[in-house]
Amino acid sequence: MEDLSHFIDGKRAAGRSGRFADVFNPATGEVQARVPLASAAELSAAVESAKAAQIGWGATNPQRRARVMMEFVRLLNRDMDKLAEALSREHGKTLPDAKGDIQRGLEVAEFCIGAPHLLKGEFSDSAGPGIDMYSMRQPLGVVAGITPFNFPAMIPMWKMCPALACGNAFILKPSERDPSVPLMLAELMQEAGLPNGVLQVVNGDKEAVDAILDHPDVMGVGFVGSTPIAAYIYERASAAGKRAQCFGGAKNHMIVMPDADMDQAADALVGAGYGAAGERCMAISVAVPVGDATADALVEKLIPRIEKLKVGPYTAGTDVDYGPLVTAEAKKRVLGYVEKGIEEGADLVVDGRDFQLQGYEDGFFVGPHLFDRVTRDMAIYREEIFGPVLSTVRAATYEDALAHAMDHEYGNGTAIFTRDGDTARDFANRINIGMVGINVPIPVPLAYHTFGGWKRSGFGDLNQHGPDAFRFYTRTKTVTARWPSGLKEGGEFHFKQMD
Ligand code: NAD
Repeated sequence: MEDLSHFIDGKRAAGRSGRFADVFNPATGEVQARVPLASAAELSAAVESAKAAQIGWGATNPQRRARVMMEFVRLLNRDMDKLAEALSREHGKTLPDAKGDIQRGLEVAEFCIGAPHLLKGEFSDSAGPGIDMYSMRQPLGVVAGITPFNFPAMIPMWKMCPALACGNAFILKPSERDPSVPLMLAELMQEAGLPNGVLQVVNGDKEAVDAILDHPDVMGVGFVGSTPIAAYIYERASAAGKRAQCFGGAKNHMIVMPDADMDQAADALVGAGYGAAGERCMAISVAVPVGDATADALVEKLIPRIEKLKVGPYTAGTDVDYGPLVTAEAKKRVLGYVEKGIEEGADLVVDGRDFQLQGYEDGFFVGPHLFDRVTRDMAIYREEIFGPVLSTVRAATYEDALAHAMDHEYGNGTAIFTRDGDTARDFANRINIGMVGINVPIPVPLAYHTFGGWKRSGFGDLNQHGPDAFRFYTRTKTVTARWPSGLKEGGEFHFKQMD
């Protein structure tokens, strides 16, 4: 069995703590590798060398840094198949989905090629007599990213590419469940010309995370994962004076109006609800048809589509719709929610509990489930399930549907399906959720826009990627400059008025 490593000072480095976590192949249930879990001392050593490396990298001109990003993009394309296979093997998602995971990260690297433009400061000529004023964006120093299992390529790239393009050194603490692709990404950055120590990958669990949060030389922390951990990291990092942005869980509602194209809505729901086995923070987990007639029509169209879904390992061909969950624990948790939903009185209209795949009995597969007549008080409605379970909540009116989404504690994404522009506009304007789709079920913004949820789906005031990332990973310094005119005026004891 393979022992994975960290990536320190430009090369793979064995773990020294003596602690490891198992990395599974979710399709077979086998342990395929062990990942080292760093001690606080190992984390601290990684920060020390990142700090030293950052000085030269921060002083490198932005265009040269952008060229590293350009080469990184080329190498990602070169190694796309290899990366996707490694990703699917540890995560379980299908190969086309793994390629999408890499592609959406690659696009952020492409956006970061524009860093020289995005890092330009502001200049006021003659802000006062003989005085110029200018603001520049400077890197924070050493920053860290703590990332989840469900997008092991995309989310590390969302964090590290802008951070590096801004001139920071970056410590990546990826999920311990699928750490191979993050290590491969670090090797590609190195091959692309990144100096040693500027990007360190430190594998680990809570001990490494807490060491990041407590380290005085880590100036900023970006996190993506579940809400309780996001809240914890945001609080602890902010209390230590670090800049922090932490993105959490979700319960994304899709409202289906009576005038929607029901076939289109049902197709969208199946893809957005069950794709990647529901392990997406932008998955739709709640369908909200408006009116009983809409609900009946929608459920009738959903059932045969869901029953036809092909669940299987990534090796079974490109027509597999989704693969296994990431761990046995995740499978147990999701099936526990199904039982809870039945106990709470929801109608289980598609029951995937008996799903078995011949030859893969030990894999972490879960068949698709559809609940109807789910209500606000049920745990399957209130909590994030993160599995192939779609809940239908029947709303009496548009206002009732809107209120469901507005009142939920999560605010990551949402969608409305309608043919009416007025309803769609009203929805987009009033909804208190960060990312909104109009006849688009998974409205993930592209790299040059920003990504972030509201309410308990996001903590901090700036989003990921797009222009916000360049604000998050830099701080502004403003210089007021006057060059001597040759006249000596003596000291000034009041605030100078610039007129
Ligand atoms: P998770 O919270 O379990 O883990 C995320 C990271 O935090 C990992 O690196 C993990 O090692 C670390 N961690 C876990 N427990 C910790 C603890 N007690 N103390 C310190 N660090 C800890 O999340 P996950 O299961 O890997 O990912 C799934 C979750 O991520 C879902 O809730 C999903 O909605 C969310 N997610 C959100 C977004 C978004 O942009 N809002 C995107 C993707 C995933």
